[in-house]
Amino acid sequence: MPVLMLKSWDDGPWIDLFTELMPTLDVRAHPDIGDPAEIDYAYVFRPPAGLLASLPNLKGIFSVGAGVDHILADPEIPPGVPISRVVDPDMAMRMTEFCVFAVLYYHRRWPEIATITGRRAWDVPLTPAARDRRVGVMGLGALGGASARALAALGFDVAGWARTPKVLDGVTVYAGSDGFAPFLARSEILLNLLPLTAETMGILNARTFAGLPEGARIINVARGGHLVEDDLIPALDSGRLDGAFLDVFSVEPLPDDHPFWAHPKVTISPHLASIADRRVRAGLVVDGISRLERGERPLHCIDPAQGY
Ligand code: NDP
Repeated sequence: MPVLMLKSWDDGPWIDLFTELMPTLDVRAHPDIGDPAEIDYAYVFRPPAGLLASLPNLKGIFSVGAGVDHILADPEIPPGVPISRVVDPDMAMRMTEFCVFAVLYYHRRWPEIATITGRRAWDVPLTPAARDRRVGVMGLGALGGASARALAALGFDVAGWARTPKVLDGVTVYAGSDGFAPFLARSEILLNLLPLTAETMGILNARTFAGLPEGARIINVARGGHLVEDDLIPALDSGRLDGAFLDVFSVEPLPDDHPFWAHPKVTISPHLASIADRRVRAGLVVDGISRLERGERPLHCIDPAQGY
């Protein structure tokens, strides 16, 4: 009987779900896992450093989310054990909805329009056609690719930036470090959907902002660690940037006294851009365990050397 260890932020409801989907699975919530040598698989969000390395017979690691930065933050990750993450069409659709909403929020000038009710002012801010609005999507993977395609389908002038070249219908693709400056130079609304890796940590910084058109807006739905928070407020106050829509933060929940709460050009949402369905996520884990038990690799394994 395969043994799955859970170490997420809400173990309770998962146990029943896993048991329902795979009755032969022995599910144990950390720290009550019995003999560590009996654990075959781990389902984790932010495992304490060294926990995974303490399981000598581990055959597979499953991330609770799409990102694996919380797992790879552990310097003692056991080498050679496959790490699988959540990739799911419903999750991509939810993220696409949110990103389209955030781009439209800026494109249709909602921060200005939202003030007219209180002012009783019949102001009519004009908006360019979507084809004249240049949107840049950083990261063209499962989520960034879906958002870029949806924005292109709405008629926006969309470019994307990835590590390696690729073809995406209706999207001008820039790749690698050479492609970054020309990509930024055309991005009036910049949407971040990169994974958090050693290369992308802090990529939303003063230098990046300086490469954008004056008055650009940024939308960060990827990870808080992408943004150098201390660089954002000076960029907003100087007019270099005209707005920041942030769903993710370096510390979550965002502390009460954080200056972002009070800044008129910052729009905050509490890390909710795309929350995958729990049953779908558990199903991916059960499928991955079945594959490993058959001697196959789980779907959606990351490359630890690249960090995503
Ligand atoms: P993927 O791994 O599918 O895609 C990553 C993309 O980023 C790829 O296109 C990749 O390029 C590109 N990339 C990676 N490194 C670099 C680099 N150094 N330079 C340029 N491009 C790079 O990720 P997902 O689409 O699944 O997830 C995107 C982000 O969304 C993650 O940060 C995840 O944590 C976050 N997320 C946030 C949620 C929320 O609710 N706010 C919910 C779910 C996910 P290439 O194609 O060449 O490999």
